[in-house]
Formats: sequence, C-alpha cells, structure tokens
Amino acid sequence: MKLLLAAILFATLLIIGYYIVKIHGRIKENKLGRSVSWLLKIGFIVVLFNLINLFTFGKVQSLIAYSVYFISVIWLLYFLLKFSIEFIGSRFDKHVNRGLMIAILLLDSVSLALNTVFRHLFDIKEATWLGESGFYNIETKPAFYIHYGFALMLVVFCFISLFYRAFKAAAFYRKKYLSIALILVVVVVLNIFTFDKAVDFSVFGYVVEAICIYYCVFVFTPQQLLPKTLLQVAQEMTTGLIVFDAEGMLLYKNKKAQQLLDEDAPFVNLYGVTLESLCRANFYEQGDSFNKQETLYKNDIPRILDIQMQKIHDDSKQLEGIYYIIKDSTEKLEQLNKEKFLASHDSLTGLYNRQYFYEKTEQYINFHPNKDFLMICTDIREFKMINDFFGTKTGDQVLINFSKMLSGQLSDASIYGRIENDIFGILMAKDKYDEEKFSAMAQQAFESCIDTGISFPTINYIGVYEITDRSIPASVMCDRARMAITSIKGSFQKRVAYYDDTLRDNIMHEQELITDLDHAIATGEIKMYLQPQMSSDGQMLGAEALVRWEHGEKGMIMPGDFIPVFEKNGLISEVDKHIWELACKQLRKWKAEGKEELYISVNISPRDFYFLNIFQVFTELIRKYDISPQNLKLEITETAIAMDVKRQLELIERLRNYGFVVEMDDFGSGYSSLNMLKDIQVDILKIDMAFLRKSKDEERSKKILHMIINLSKQLGMPVISEGVETKEQVQYLSDFGCDMFQGYYFAKPMDVASFEKLYL
Ligand code: C2E
Ligand code: MG
Ligand code: MG
Repeated sequence: MKLLLAAILFATLLIIGYYIVKIHGRIKENKLGRSVSWLLKIGFIVVLFNLINLFTFGKVQSLIAYSVYFISVIWLLYFLLKFSIEFIGSRFDKHVNRGLMIAILLLDSVSLALNTVFRHLFDIKEATWLGESGFYNIETKPAFYIHYGFALMLVVFCFISLFYRAFKAAAFYRKKYLSIALILVVVVVLNIFTFDKAVDFSVFGYVVEAICIYYCVFVFTPQQLLPKTLLQVAQEMTTGLIVFDAEGMLLYKNKKAQQLLDEDAPFVNLYGVTLESLCRANFYEQGDSFNKQETLYKNDIPRILDIQMQKIHDDSKQLEGIYYIIKDSTEKLEQLNKEKFLASHDSLTGLYNRQYFYEKTEQYINFHPNKDFLMICTDIREFKMINDFFGTKTGDQVLINFSKMLSGQLSDASIYGRIENDIFGILMAKDKYDEEKFSAMAQQAFESCIDTGISFPTINYIGVYEITDRSIPASVMCDRARMAITSIKGSFQKRVAYYDDTLRDNIMHEQELITDLDHAIATGEIKMYLQPQMSSDGQMLGAEALVRWEHGEKGMIMPGDFIPVFEKNGLISEVDKHIWELACKQLRKWKAEGKEELYISVNISPRDFYFLNIFQVFTELIRKYDISPQNLKLEITETAIAMDVKRQLELIERLRNYGFVVEMDDFGSGYSSLNMLKDIQVDILKIDMAFLRKSKDEERSKKILHMIINLSKQLGMPVISEGVETKEQVQYLSDFGCDMFQGYYFAKPMDVASFEKLYL
C-alpha cells in the first residue's frame, strides 16, 4: 500500500516537474508566469517531502519531513494568494502588506523548524493505514492551530479574490476562476480531514490545482472571444458587410449594411433592381471575387457604391457562402472631384487655371494633328483703371462676366482659361476664329456690371499666335500671343495683333534700344529739343523740352518710338532725369546771359511717379543750378493724375507752393478731364492737340474748345493750345481767349543751338 502511495506521489512529482520545465521558457509570455512558476516549484517541494515522509523510519526524521512539509505548504499558500490576486488583474501589494505577511511567514517557518527540537506544535506518532503499519502522523498540540488558522486564512483570502473575480468577469472567463477556486476547496477539505492522518490526501489536490492553474494561465483562451470580437468589429465597420449562405439566404448584415439595404428607401439600379437582389445575382457569376464601382439610386438620387464581392469555398472547392463589402463613396468622390476642380480651375471665374489650360491645350493639339489652331490671348485695356475707379468688386464682376461670355460664345471645340489677372487664353480652330466677336467682349462685360450711366471705353486687346510650331509648350504659345498684345498696348486704334516675324523684330528692336540707352545718355545721343511757346502777338515766351534720340546707327528716333518702350520697364525715368537736367542747365545758362524771363516746360511721364521722388528731384535740381522754380514748368498728364488723384493732388500742391508752375498736359484726352478739374488746381491747362485735328464736325470741336477755354478762364487758369498748325487756328483760339500757343505754325521742335540762333 505504501509502495502504491509512493508510486502515486512519485508520478505526481514527475507531473509537477514536467510542468516546471515546460513553463520555464514561457515565464515571460504571461505576466503571471513568475507566480505560477513559484507555485509549481514549491508544490514540488510539498509533494517531495510528503514522499520522503512516507519512507522515514524514525520519529525524528518524520518530524523533520513534516516540518519542511508544513513550511512549504504555508509558502505555497502565500504564493497561491499572490497568484490569485495577480490573476484577477490586481496588484498583490495593493491588498496585502507584503512585509508583514513575509515576517509572519518567516516566524511561522522558524516556529515549525524549531518544532523538531521543542515539539511545541506537534509530535509524531506511529500509525497504521488500511491495516498497514509503518506510517507516521502528527499529534497536534494547541499551538499548532495558530499555524493552521493562519494557513486557512490565506486560503480564505484566495477564495475571496477568486470568487470576487469570477463574479465580476465576463461569462467565458468565469469558469477559469471558478475551477481554480473549486479545486482549492477540495484541497482544503481533504486537508482538513486528513492532515493529521497517516496519509494527507490533500497533497494530490495540489497536483490537480497546479495543472489547472497552468492550463488557465497558459493554455486557456476563451474560444468565443475571437468570433465575438470579429462580430463586433464587423458590426461597427464603416463599410457595409453582407453575408449570404450557399443557397443565397442572407445570413448577416452589419449596421452599415442595414442602412444600405434599408427596405423603405432601397438602393436600386437604373432598372429598379435592389442592391440585395443584385448581390444575390452574383451567385451565378463566374469569378470568385470582384471589386467594382456602381452608380445606384436612392430616392432617385445617384450614389456611387464601391462593391467588393468574395466567394468562400471549402477545401474541396465547394461554395460555402459569399460576402460583400459595400461602401458609399459618393461624398468622398465628390470631395475628390471638388479638390480636382479647385486644383485645375480658377476660383473667381471657374474657368481652367493657367496650368490646366496649358495641359488641356497640349493634349488637344496632339489629339488633332491635322487641324490648324490659333492661340489667342485677350487682355482688357486699362483693367487696372476699372479696379481703381469702380472698385475691385466691379473689376471682379467684369472678369466673371467676361468669362461667362467666353463660355457662351466659344464652341465646345475651344479650350479656354484664365491665365492671370485680366488675361485669358483661348485655343481655337483656325477656321472658327472671328476677330470682331472677341474685340467687343470686354465692352459688354463691363457694361453688364455697371448700372450708372458712366461711360468708360473698355475694349479688349487680342493677341493671336497661329500655331505653326506645334512642338513648343502651350505656355510659349501663350507668350507669343501676349507678345502680340504688347505691341499694341496703349493704342486706341488697334485691338488685334498677330504674332509674326515683324513683331519679333520689333521686340528685338525694343530690346536693342533698352541695351543702348545707358550709352546713349552717357554720350549725349539723347538730346533736348526745344519748341517755342508763343503769345498771341507772336512773342516767344519759353519752350517745351522734347526729347530726341540721335542714334549713332539708327539715325534720329522720335519719342513716340522709344518712350512707350521705356515706359513699360520704368527706364523712362532715366531719360526724363537726363532731359530735366539738360533743361536746368540751359536755364542756368540763360540766367547767366540775363534772359531770366525765359522758361522751359518739361514732360513728366506717369511712370516717373512710381519710380522717382518727384518733389525731391526737382527741388535738388533747382538748388544745384541755382535757378528759380518759376522758370521750370512741369507738364503732368491727366493719366498721371488719374493714377492716384489724392496723392497727386498733394504733390501738385507742394510743387506749386514751392514755386513751380504746374501744367496739365494733353487736357481733354483722358477719361474724366472735367471731373478732374473739380479737385485739381494747376497753373496752366494745355489743351490736347486732338481738338485741332481735322474731324468730320469741326464746328463741334471748336465749341468744345471754346467751352474749355471759357471754363479755365473762370477757374483762373491760363490756357495753352498745342499742335497749332495754321494761322486760322491761332485766330479763332485767340478769339476764344487762349493765351499761349505751341505748334508747327510757329516752329517745329529744334535743337538748342537752332533755338538760340532763331530766338535769342
Ligand atoms: P507732348 O508733351 O504733348 O508734346 C507735344 C508733341 O506734339 C511733340 O511731339 C511735338 O513735336 C508735337 N507737336 C508740336 N506741335 C505740333 C504740331 O503743330 N503738329 C503736330 N502734329 N505735332 C506737334 P514729340 O516731340 O514727338 O513728343 C511726343 C510726346 O512724347 C510728347 O507729347 C510727350 O508726351 C512725349 N515726350 C516728349 N519728350 C518727352 C520727355 O522728355 N519726357 C517724357 N516723359 N515724355 C516726352
Ligand atoms: Mg508735353
Ligand atoms: Mg501734349
């Protein structure tokens, strides 16, 4: 019997040993690994000393074996409690004063160890078991129950934590905690009844408990957890999931799919077939899967669905089911299209933006290799003026209206977009082009957005490049069309310009002028000519300084040929400063010669106001040459004033206060000449020579002249008429009250030497 028992205990040891080894490499896999390992190791000692006890042949040895056995049991319980607390997901230290507990355990262990000498806890007596003698069991003393009570208390704590946890845990975890707790109950009961008997049966319980714990910690994973988790994930997915079985019965649809299959407002295709039926129809399809986008209708509103289908087969390739993942991508696609649109379209007009226009143009040209095309650029004349006069809101509206007109009047075969500001680009088949149509457009666009009766001559400049070289980028084609515009910019007569070789030559010519300018100023090629200004009785009063370029190679160049070039890039200021200096030098010379009453009138380009500090430049010149500001008249054009009325008003005020005589040049040629007189006080009005040019109704022109002269008299401003060519003109202008004259009738502009020879 004893041998049988020993064999069982030995087998038990082997089993525990097996698990100790097994767990060794896996301690780190689980946060409980360390506790479990300790539990098993001490369990091993418990069983070992139980076994040893079986083979002791003397009370003393038995006493020692029992002591070790009890010591190991009490430590086993300690680790069991530690494990139980950690097992329920809490921290041991949170619930137990570890120091105190270990102190008590040590005390208890020492007391048990000393028992071998003092026998104050228990003694050993021989016993028989099932008629077989040679067993030892303990004879307890009252003090033993302190130890025993302490041990039971640990067990109770274990129970409490395990039961508490079992009660709180999810259903499929509960059995894990309960099984450990229940085995513990069995062990304790066995122990209570047999601990002082010949054989302590609770020892076998330890083995079962150890295996159970090992299983719970390392092996047990709740089988239902995975499907449950997957189901939950499926349920909450933002895409619809629909599962059919092999017979086409709907097995499952997640929340999103319930919305998609909503019977009150189902998704249907063009023929009214519902999404659900469409899904079923795929059972007969050949493929095992697809991924496609379909437009279906919900309440007659088209929606775009991404539909992914997958068939499921068993190992022998028999159909088990079919599932769909469906996503409503309408919003996302709309957003994407919107982004695409924003990236490729101009935000103000909704037309293609520059980059996209170029892209489309190149595609289109390549796609039609046998067709002839024009690249057209349009530029609204004085668009800046529209913005300044009427406000940017009106300016924007002009652009919007213009773009609408483009959309309305151009055929589908044209490609058009907004290149920048007021510049639009159009690619058009050569045979579809109509010059008139384009040039009228800016005017219409402007008129359609002002409700007052203001008239403003809005027209369009059009630059056309006939695409002869298809290999160049669209941007270069556009540049060429714009180059054509540059050649007519500022002109009132020409609206359309075509890019060709002459144009290119002109541009090259302009480039040459720009390169030559510095040299020309330095070497005196840029000259001041003087044209006399006369009183009505033929007396020379002074002169206007007019620039001439006596070019070394190109001969005489008139201001009309180079001033616009330099006005474009601001170099005009260099020319003007040079002429002003020459004028001052001349006045200085005359002063020295005692002709202090003579004056020189100099021109100030509108661009000078951008690039120069006019007041400073003139006052410095006056000081440098020690002349009187009265002898320097400053001709400012209406255009220059219109650029920034308030600022110019202040500047003119300052110049006049300083003593300069300010003239308004070309009066009557601008947009709002009369309007301007309201605000601006100048010393002299210089009437534009256009009023004297031959026209259909000369009487009319004369009436206007008369009116202007009258008006300026009333405002206290002397008038000078320029461009006077005939005696008759002098006559009637004098009759109207004009004070001064300038024109070919008296003399053409001439170099300084000739001027001095003739008049001084
Ligand atoms: P403007 O200031 O109105 O100058 C008068 C222009 O009319 C001059 O042309 C002059 O030669 C011309 N002219 C004078 N009398 C008659 C006439 O009886 N009949 C005709 N048909 N023309 C007459 P010019 O010298 O060719 O200058 C043209 C324009 O160039 C000037 O018009 C002025 O705006 C500008 N300009 C000339 N010199 C300068 C300058 O030094 N600086 C600036 N910024 N502009 C200048
Ligand atoms: Mg002038
Ligand atoms: Mg003039």
